[in-house]
Amino acid sequence: MLLAGLIQMLKFPWLKLAYFPLVISMTALYTPSVIIPLSLIIPFLWLKDFISTGNITGEAAFSFFLIAAAVVSSVLSNKLRKGKDKAVTSLKTIKDKAMNMVHETDMDSISSNKAMSHYLASMMKTDEEIKDLLQTIRQAVFADSANLFVPHNDGFMLRCSSDESSDIDIKGNGIILECMKDKKMLSSSEVNEKKIEAGYTKNNKISSIIAAPVVDGSAILGCLSVESSRYHAFREPDKKTLMMFADYIVRVLERERIYPKIKRDYNGAKILQEESSKLVSSLNIDFISEKLCEGATKIVFSKVYLFLSKGKGFELIHSTGNVNEKGKRFNLKGTIINMVVENKIPIYLSDIKDYRIPVMPFKTEDVQSLVVMPLLYENNLFGLFVMLMEKTEFPDTFQRELINVMCNQAATSIANAKLHAEIEKLAITDGLTGLFNHRTFQEKLTLELKRLNRFSEPLSILISDIDYFKKINDNYGHPVGDIVLKEVAQKLRDTVRDVDVAARYGGEEFAAILPGTDSEGAKIIAERLRKEIRNASFSANGTQFRITISIGIATSPSDTKKKEDLIEKADKALYHAKHNGRNQTVLWNSIK
Ligand code: GH3
Ligand code: MG
Ligand code: MG
Repeated sequence: MLLAGLIQMLKFPWLKLAYFPLVISMTALYTPSVIIPLSLIIPFLWLKDFISTGNITGEAAFSFFLIAAAVVSSVLSNKLRKGKDKAVTSLKTIKDKAMNMVHETDMDSISSNKAMSHYLASMMKTDEEIKDLLQTIRQAVFADSANLFVPHNDGFMLRCSSDESSDIDIKGNGIILECMKDKKMLSSSEVNEKKIEAGYTKNNKISSIIAAPVVDGSAILGCLSVESSRYHAFREPDKKTLMMFADYIVRVLERERIYPKIKRDYNGAKILQEESSKLVSSLNIDFISEKLCEGATKIVFSKVYLFLSKGKGFELIHSTGNVNEKGKRFNLKGTIINMVVENKIPIYLSDIKDYRIPVMPFKTEDVQSLVVMPLLYENNLFGLFVMLMEKTEFPDTFQRELINVMCNQAATSIANAKLHAEIEKLAITDGLTGLFNHRTFQEKLTLELKRLNRFSEPLSILISDIDYFKKINDNYGHPVGDIVLKEVAQKLRDTVRDVDVAARYGGEEFAAILPGTDSEGAKIIAERLRKEIRNASFSANGTQFRITISIGIATSPSDTKKKEDLIEKADKALYHAKHNGRNQTVLWNSIK
């Protein structure tokens, strides 16, 4: 309107030409729905001239070209605007996705297995993410396509392209390779196709190209390129855009690189969590050992061996390697694993080829590296956990840490199991002699009588008492008396069979349950014991002395079927032996 007024006022008809730049520049600000109706109004502004000049053809042609210019420039500008909007939208989507990932990796979410699995699954979609990014880059800089090349041998290869149908053919030397070598951005506005300046060709002609290095610190991860069939297609801001995206791709590739490690670490931690609960759930040493071996081999592919100290050696309790050696006791002196016995700290040898001493106390094959963990309880070493691997530089620190945690848990569990077994043993045995105590003798007798009475099988018990034991204490002292008690206990243990029960019945009284043995059989055993003791010689304060015992025997069911009765009858037989000169065996059925 302003321009129309100016033209009318100044009477400069050539000023009408100014409508062209005016309309075209307005397309940058308004959409076609505004520009096209506006351009249709313009001819009406000089309707008077149109009629008065008589140059109707000229005026109509001018109006037509003006409207046509408005329509074409408006449509073009709208297309560009839409492309830009689309690029902005997809960049926002990618950023949102990234934000979601960050949110999912916060510590609270990691504690949930579901969130972790979801996070790990999203990590696998690197290709999809890069493709989304390349599409966005292509739209942002108005390129024909955007590509990510990665180093391959001495050259490079295509990792991803926004245009999958482009049939990219790698030619080698050129801008891409140079960009990767020099780690700097390169571009060309007039690519010489004949010289294959880009380093690759594709279906469409490449006339302009920008190549941005994808670098992480000093390491080159790849090269991001955009190209166009138009000459001088890109400008300075496009280079900056490309650099920004190259940085983003570094993060995506970095995540992809650490993904297998995160996944493995996560799986390791999961195994540890599962196996640890098994380790602490039992008081059975065999079960704990088996679970430790199982769990450790899930984390590290290896042959494993669990040794527990026994006497001066180490017994192989469980193994997935030399199974024939299981249950045997070994002296570890002169072996590599003995280092841990001496220093009580874990060892990891990543390559054992330089060691001249044997790894184990038995032959092992194909061992390249090893891990040995001490099993400690209150800084006392009671076992060793050995892992033998068939490759060098394996396992890594994280895996070793998991094994260490597992071994510590197993060590605590085994120590608990041992303690528990010891307490249990204390409750049923006598501290001085190691024989079953009085209470256990009573319990076992109840059980045995029940069992054997059912089948009407005989059972005998013998009760023995050391003759004039008080004198031994008086003459040689209480400690010597204790030694005598231990020796008598040992002789009793040696005389009876495994199925028999030997017990310390009271102070210097011993008893035995002889299942399946009648009175005659019991007398033979009792006499053997009596003679063994009579023949044994003791020494104290430089003097030698001997002792004797008296024994009473009662048998079920011939004498009685009742437990209390049986004990009383054996006691009476013993009393009889004492009063008939001691150092003898008396059967209740011979005095009744
Ligand atoms: P007898 O032939 O009549 O059995 O004579 P005895 O001297 O053995 O008499 P008695 O059975 O009454 O004596 C038991 C002695 O055993 C009394 C006690 O001092 C001793 N004694 C009991 N328990 C222990 C022990 O644990 N250690 C030691 N050293 N002596 C014990
Ligand atoms: Mg006595
Ligand atoms: Mg006595």
